[in-house]
Amino acid sequence: MSEPAIKYRLIKKEKHTGARLGEIITPHGTFPTPIFMPVGTQATVKAMSPEELEELGADIILSNTYHLWLRPGEDLVREAGGLHKFMNWHKGILTDSGGFQVFSLAELRNITEEGVHFKNHLNGHQMFLSPEKAIHIENALGADIMMSFDECPPFFESYDYIKKSVERTSRWAERGLKAHQNPETQALFGIVQGGGHKDLRQQSARDLVAMDFPGYSIGGLSVGESKAEMNHVLDFTTPLLPENKPRYLMGVGSPDALIDGVIRGVDMFDCVLPTRIARNGTCMTSHGRLVVKNAQYEHDFGPIDDQCDCYACRNYTRAYVRHLLKVNETMGIRLTSYHNLYFLTHLMQKIRQAILDDNLLEFREDFFDQYGLNVKNPKNF
Ligand SMILES: [Zn+2]
Repeated sequence: MSEPAIKYRLIKKEKHTGARLGEIITPHGTFPTPIFMPVGTQATVKAMSPEELEELGADIILSNTYHLWLRPGEDLVREAGGLHKFMNWHKGILTDSGGFQVFSLAELRNITEEGVHFKNHLNGHQMFLSPEKAIHIENALGADIMMSFDECPPFFESYDYIKKSVERTSRWAERGLKAHQNPETQALFGIVQGGGHKDLRQQSARDLVAMDFPGYSIGGLSVGESKAEMNHVLDFTTPLLPENKPRYLMGVGSPDALIDGVIRGVDMFDCVLPTRIARNGTCMTSHGRLVVKNAQYEHDFGPIDDQCDCYACRNYTRAYVRHLLKVNETMGIRLTSYHNLYFLTHLMQKIRQAILDDNLLEFREDFFDQYGLNVKNPKNF
């Protein structure tokens, strides 16, 4: 057996919750967990340079296999020397499997045991993605962490359907593991599915843990269910996963969900939320969401967030950022994107400190209170 490409080191568990402080050692550096990963769908985090990402505290970013497969194609990325070189980002990269986009973006899907036939969302061409093909593309992209090809069924799909889907996802995970060419340089994660059903999550976790992946993702959440439902699923899912491997909750990036995920033992998160809302002129601040584009900020010469010391908040005013957004200057979305990503990377830093200090529940209460969220005991720890 060769050494896995990444290693997880558990440093400390918080006294009163399931939160874990740890670190992940990858071929492109070691980063602390819990961590938030900005999303760079098309081999770029929209409006951010790699230098800015590094400056605002990002250690690992996510890129989308489906999009890079369509354009520019995995062969071109391989020819460039892999995704790190292609986009000039020398820290961690994680790629998804493309499955989520096939199930959410593409049309006319036909799911078979072999894989999924679909028409791509760009030109309607008929395409086919299988576990082997997804791994082949991810191997060409060369990310430090890659995802197994899974099906992400709607949360409220029937029990029978989700059960069949979980079983197929396990068979696909096994096929992907066999197809994986670079286990010494790229770590492949298994993805636990099962919707809101405890027994199906157990079945999925049991199947995948038996395959001994170097890390596990929790999929099928943040797809339209309530936060309470998501937290409920996490309550019974994270304890099914091995303590010595990282746990990644896919598609979660709102501050409250990050804190509540960490409390339940999640180590890694990603989401387009901070950059997507930034492009609409919405900022995450210590006092809650702020739509800086709104008329009320026209004459506001204070920073986006008076408690933030990011580049945008140190140098620019709400009135100026609002003006840039109103006249569609790209500098406007650069500043809001920078601020939102900084806000989340620094929120994770504060969460890690709270784990170290064993006061994560107090931190949660203070944060929710200031952010304007309902403070409810997350669970009776
Ligand atoms: Zn800021």
